Amino acid sequence: EVVGLSPSLEGGISQGEVQFAKMFINNEWHESTSGKKFATYNPSTLEQICEVEEGDKPDVDKAVEAAHAAFQRGSPWRRLDALNRGRLLHQLADLVERDRAVLATLETMDTGKPFLHAFFIDLEGCIKTLRYFAGWADKIQGRTIPTDDNVVCFTRHEPIGVCGAITPWNFPLLMLVWKLAPALCCGNTIVVKPAEQTPLTALYLGSLIKEVGFPPGVVNIVPGFGPTVGAAMSSHPRISKIAFTGSIEVGKLVKEAASRSNLKRVTLELGGKNPCIVCADADLDLAVECAHQGIFFNQGQCCTAASRVFVEEQVYPEFVRRSVERARKRPVGDPFDARTEHGPQIDQNQFDKILSLIESGKKEGVKLECGSSGMEDRGLVIKPTFFLRVSDPRYLVRGAIFGPVQPILKFKTIEEVIRRANSLEYGLHGGCFSRRTWDKAPEAGFPAWKSGTVWINCYNAIYAQAPFGGFKMSGNGRELGEYALSEYTEVKTVTIKLDDKDP
Ligand code: NAD
Repeated sequence: EVVGLSPSLEGGISQGEVQFAKMFINNEWHESTSGKKFATYNPSTLEQICEVEEGDKPDVDKAVEAAHAAFQRGSPWRRLDALNRGRLLHQLADLVERDRAVLATLETMDTGKPFLHAFFIDLEGCIKTLRYFAGWADKIQGRTIPTDDNVVCFTRHEPIGVCGAITPWNFPLLMLVWKLAPALCCGNTIVVKPAEQTPLTALYLGSLIKEVGFPPGVVNIVPGFGPTVGAAMSSHPRISKIAFTGSIEVGKLVKEAASRSNLKRVTLELGGKNPCIVCADADLDLAVECAHQGIFFNQGQCCTAASRVFVEEQVYPEFVRRSVERARKRPVGDPFDARTEHGPQIDQNQFDKILSLIESGKKEGVKLECGSSGMEDRGLVIKPTFFLRVSDPRYLVRGAIFGPVQPILKFKTIEEVIRRANSLEYGLHGGCFSRRTWDKAPEAGFPAWKSGTVWINCYNAIYAQAPFGGFKMSGNGRELGEYALSEYTEVKTVTIKLDDKDP
């Protein structure tokens, strides 16, 4: 597969060839009202890739106007039957598949993630999500409800209206598709704000939306910054729902702005500090590999990251030995080199923040393995780093690092480790490795975990069909799966009085 891909790698897009860097409104490319642009950089080379139109409130107003008009009763989008809505999403999936190498190239340039990861993981997820929700478009149905009176009572699941999507930089296209596919499948229109670090794949997707033939205004994309474009969207009176992925801090701002404006519906996918528990009877090779990929995949920049590993004391030394050995073999380097598994962090801010957390951990006397200063490597690369002998109250164990840093902790009993795992404000994911089956070891199994997902003997097992989201401060609502449909529809109850003579 890698060999088969070489032509695409060699023919990848070079700096001058980014085709879409303007705002996408009403299926047309627009310059920003202010005339401003902002630069997007390649974190692997630190070079500027191109400049992109910088949106602000007036541009958001234009995009919302377009999305609002496209949602009016009688519009081409509202008149389209559900089967054909699904067909458009399938055709979009076809074009994403056709341009998969181009999109993966853009994603790698903008994020620094290894090209093969972008191609096989991000783009695979996008295509499957589009196809999954394409299939739902004509299967969204309400219920008939028996009541106390002589009436017919039924529900309709109707689109909400203009939705907003504010997306992060770690999986730029995938996080957008997780929002766009269910929104369109349910018949909504959408305004999108990609993260300022990574606007390129969203804009390319705009070109595919147009090529497929979605009516103008159904999808609108306004690149720009959080405090301008993101804030204008969160407080916009004509946006009826916002889906956000990013930090807890900004998630709170989005919800506050929603409350102060029109009480728009808000779904949030926020951070995690996900416990990964390795019991003494686990298949240790499997646990080491899953914990390794769990934290180091995407340079640790995943809300799913295995960022707290608890290992039962009998196997702790062996687990650490094998983890360090595995991490030392992780090929770090140029994301366009097919051997590379590990690229740079997204930008200087994140790089500095992670290095300073590593430094403060070192100063506090915590034992470090496989350490790195990042300096000996190219660009913004930070090599895989472990912290041992670190206690639970330390920031390294309870705070979001969002980098390739894994504390490995020891535990004695299942009751103790579940209590420690559940002790934080986060509740996104949890993993457990054990040869026991859940019915023999219910205390280690899924009922005790306070998290939206529990992975047993696997990690990062994410499917378009299965809901994804957090307990506690890790978020509100669910993306993916049938559950996502309820986040993009309103329920209307219709009651029709029957003739009393005809019960
Ligand atoms: P962020 O939350 O600031 O950015 C996410 C998105 O929100 C971006 O599109 C950004 O422009 C937008 N935004 C920023 N301020 C906004 C505002 N006032 N109103 C509306 N939208 C706004 O995340 P970041 O600064 O890029 O990263 C900081 C931390 O966030 C990371 O270290 C990590 O802990 C966390 N993060 C989590 C995820 C995730 O997948 N859950 C993704 C990225 C970052």
